[in-house]
This record gives sequence, C-alpha cells and structure tokens, in this order.
Amino acid sequence: MFDKVLIANRGEIALRIQRACKELGIATVAVHSTADADAMHVRLADESVCIGPPSAAESYLNIPRLLAACEITGADAVHPGYGFLSENARFAEILEEHQITFIGPTSEHIRVMGDKIEAKETAKRLGIPVVPGSDGAVSTEAEAMKVAKSMGFPVLIKASAGGGGRGMKVAHTAADLGLALSTARAEAKAAFGNDAVYVEKYLGKPRHIEVQVFGDGQGNAIHLGERDCSLQRRHQKVLEEAPSPALNAAARAKIGETVADAMRKLKYRGAGTVEFLYEDGEFYFIEMNTRLQVEHPVTEAITGIDLVLEQIRVASGAKLSLTQQDVTFSGHAIECRINAENPRTFRPSPGQITYWHPPGGLGVRVDSGVYQGYRIPPYYDSLIGKLIVHGKTRNECLMRLKRALSEFVIDGIETTIPLFNDLIQQPDIANGMYDIHWLEKYLAQTP
Ligand code: ADP
Repeated sequence: MFDKVLIANRGEIALRIQRACKELGIATVAVHSTADADAMHVRLADESVCIGPPSAAESYLNIPRLLAACEITGADAVHPGYGFLSENARFAEILEEHQITFIGPTSEHIRVMGDKIEAKETAKRLGIPVVPGSDGAVSTEAEAMKVAKSMGFPVLIKASAGGGGRGMKVAHTAADLGLALSTARAEAKAAFGNDAVYVEKYLGKPRHIEVQVFGDGQGNAIHLGERDCSLQRRHQKVLEEAPSPALNAAARAKIGETVADAMRKLKYRGAGTVEFLYEDGEFYFIEMNTRLQVEHPVTEAITGIDLVLEQIRVASGAKLSLTQQDVTFSGHAIECRINAENPRTFRPSPGQITYWHPPGGLGVRVDSGVYQGYRIPPYYDSLIGKLIVHGKTRNECLMRLKRALSEFVIDGIETTIPLFNDLIQQPDIANGMYDIHWLEKYLAQTP
C-alpha cells in the first residue's frame, strides 16, 4: 500500500479522496493555486504545496509543477480526481516513468477511450452496442451527407476529442448539415486542438444511463449497476439517480454483464463509467470515462462500496476484493449538484459564503469543499457541493430529498438549490418520467 498520496485536484473531490486515504492510514498531500490557499482541501491535508497562480493551466493542469510537488513531498502515488488531468494519458505515462503510481487505468486505456471514434470502435469490437453512425471520422460534407441520408435526419456531428458537451452540433435536415459540420469542427479545433468529427444518429427522446465498472487490471471486472443522468442542461448533468427508474432487474443485469465482460477482455484497471443513451428498450454506447465520476456517490449509497478506497487498493496492485455475487443493490439514491450559480440564468455567482448550514439526518450525505466565511474564487467550475440522499424506495428518497433541501441554507452567493426545490415538485420528476431533453424544455416553459 502507498505511504503518501498526492491529490492533483481541488474542491469537494480533493476532500473525498483525502477521506479515503485517511481511512486507509495513508498520508495526504494537497496541491493548490494561490487562489486556493484558504481552501478546505488544503486545511485538512497532512501537507500542502502551492503549485502556481490561479489559472488552471499554470497550476492544476501543470504537469512539471505537479511532478515537482511529488518529489518535494515524496508522494508515491497521485490521485487525479475528475476533470483537470484525470483523463490525460501523457500525465499517467510521465508519472509511471518517475515510479509514481497513477491511481487510474493504464495510459493506453485512457488514450483509447479519450478518442471517441477509437472508443466507439473498441466498444463495438468488445460486443457493446453503439449509436448508429459513420465508420470513423468524416472529412467532407458529401461524406457526412451520405451517412446522414442512409440513417435519416436528424443527425449529430460530434468531435472525436469532445468533452463537456462541446463540439456537438445537431443537423435537423440536409440543409443544416454543412453549417453543423463546420461549426462542430471549428469548436473542436478551438477547444481541443483536434478537428476530427464523426456523424451519429440523433436520438429524439433517450435517457442517459451509465454503467459503473471496476477492474483490477488482472482480468477481473465487475459492474456496480447503473446511474440515470438524464436530467441535463446543455449536455451537462444536473441531477443523477440510481437505480434508473426506466430499467428492471433483468435489463440491468444484462447491460451490466455486457459491460463487465468487455472490461474483462480489456483487462481494465480501476473505476470506469460506460455511458449509454437508452431509447425504446435499446442501449447505445456513447463514450467511456476512465476515471471517478462526479456522481459516484449514488452508486456508493446503493451498494455500500467505497469506490475511492477500491481505486486506491487496485492501483496498489491488489486484486478486486469483490465478486459480482458480492455486489447487492439496496434502496434508491439521488444526487443534486449544488452550483454557485443563479438558479435561472445559470450565471456563475462566486463570492463569500456568509452562512453555511448543510442538512443532516438519516440517509443524507453532503460532499463539499466549502465552509462558512469561505470566498469562492471565480477561476474554476461552479460546483460547490453535492447533496446525496438515500432511501429504501424512490418515494422515500424523494421525501427525504425534499426535507434535506429545505434544511440547506447557503447565504452570500446564489446557488442552484431553488431549482431543485422546483424540480422535485414536478410530477414528471416524481414519476421518473424524463428524458435528456426534459430539463431544457421545462426551463424554456417556466418563467
Ligand atoms: P461529452 O463527452 O461532451 O459529455 P457525450 O458523448 O458524453 O459528450 O454526450 C453528452 C450528452 O449529449 C449525452 O448525455 C446526451 O444528452 C447528448 N448526446 C450525445 N450523443 C447523442 C445522440 N447520438 N443523440 C442524442 N443526444 C446525444
């Protein structure tokens, strides 16, 4: 087992990882930018190193500075969290070259899954159903048109290097195709420095259902069920739940086993999430994330398994401590992403938290990196906490969520809590009847 883990991240996820390290008796190193000197993850770590100015490029994304921090502190492993360098194959490779363990999959698996075209081809080869679309990248409008006409409009143009919902454009008719292709390409080039795009059938009313997998790199892999992340704004998740209200036990076991089997063939190591769109009883692979996800706590709530602890164990060379038979699902969990944003315009609202009262009680978990008096810096994403609620049934979970939201008080800044208060009153949410377009329609219709 490791002696000291450096956590190459900030905010709630840095704290989440520290907690697992502490339970395992591993010392922790926090890194931070000058803007984060007062952050909770710095205060609670055993040691901390300032790695640069506020800009992420000069701090949390700066590989030489992170390496120097490992050397100064003698850390023998790095946990990247999510975002920042968590899916950067070169970072994983460089760490390995320096005999520092990257707590995650191999750099090769990160690279393959980081390229959506290659990921889709790999998924197909491993027996995972994918969204119909072009065979690899398309370079001309004529080529895209041929694929689109063979499947029928609407179609989606997607960037192979895409992420965070960027580089994705819908073409509703043949007349839209040229513009969709050129704008997706330009956006991808600007955001990712890679303008390769492909064509996919645009599904009209799917749910986003993702399967949590876990492998030990030695050919053992299990699935931990699914999460339903259909409540989205601009292709970004807002609320997640497990299990999905749309699946029964047989469908869950079937897709879970398909994915776990693929991960065994791949000899995948660590935590991973295979994302699908689900429409009319069929699953269609869209991408795989080779890291811990923001929404992992809903899976922890219904399985009782500490995902970060397992990540650390497996990275240290241990075999999976669980078999598929050991995994049991209990009750229902929902996570709300609490962002420092206006709940209607979604404009970021950084500033000082003058009062902070998180909810508590049975079945309530709050993962957050902030505290009363803390000043939220304007440089990073606006997630300041996650409220995760667990109940024996979906109904109990919703009742508890309503109660927990009513206890949550954050003053001094705007947050998305009022949005969740509205959402849980909606019959479609109460009944679990929503697809990936539901939230955008709701926001457009409600003043
Ligand atoms: P990113 O990596 O940018 O998050 P994803 O491929 O994971 O991109 O897709 C993000 C979201 O975009 C999905 O959850 C879904 O809402 C929407 N989406 C992606 N592909 C399709 C598709 N073929 N049809 C309809 N919606 C899609």
